[in-house]
Amino acid sequence: MALGTDWVLQWTALAAQAAHEHRVELIELDRAIGDGDHGENLDRGFTEVEKQLESATVSDPAQVFRTIATTLISKVGGASGPLLGTAYLRMSSSAKEQLEPGDLAAMIEAASQGIQMRGKATEGEKTMVDAWAPAARAAAAAAASGADCLGVLEAASKAATDGAENTRPMVATKGRASYLGERSAGHLDPGAVSSSYILEAAVRAAL
Ligand code: ADP
Ligand code: MG
Repeated sequence: MALGTDWVLQWTALAAQAAHEHRVELIELDRAIGDGDHGENLDRGFTEVEKQLESATVSDPAQVFRTIATTLISKVGGASGPLLGTAYLRMSSSAKEQLEPGDLAAMIEAASQGIQMRGKATEGEKTMVDAWAPAARAAAAAAASGADCLGVLEAASKAATDGAENTRPMVATKGRASYLGERSAGHLDPGAVSSSYILEAAVRAAL
């Protein structure tokens, strides 16, 4: 079965809930290698997104993604606002009214590309790209092998979780954590971890 606007709205509500529940954990991760505001940024951003969506009349997935994008870009001060905002903008451009497994994979790939373009980062630089890029690859592989929508999202979520875990030994070469150089190794990247929560919310919304 294809996924539509209801799924996108549920995904967003669960992503907002995750940002709230993991607020302190994300603050602590960012305190170790950044400035300690990531949990605050994400929670504030998604709280505002929920507020905007309540008052907006949304008819299709693209419109929901666009509302999320513009809200995150305008309300989140940190680097993650424009980066995630760009991911949602690209998903908005890619989204169809009814999303089939291949459409979901294309959407996640578009998000990953958008983040890489906006942040000029590639994999291995200890950023959220290390969650999104493997998620996009896993989603494409799952769709190609005939997985249904839930299967595609589960593959993406698992790859993002593994990808976030893989940032631990990395030395950051992009973003605030890069100021620490070698000392950034041994910690998880907060943006990769929060991205894995966002993709996990996409799975739960489809259950
Ligand atoms: P700030 O770094 O401005 O305080 P946040 O703390 O909200 O913003 O977000 C930090 C996260 O943003 C990092 O953990 C990383 O995942 C991501 N990030 C930072 N710079 C880049 C970049 N150039 N490309 C991709 N992701 C980045
Ligand atoms: Mg920060």
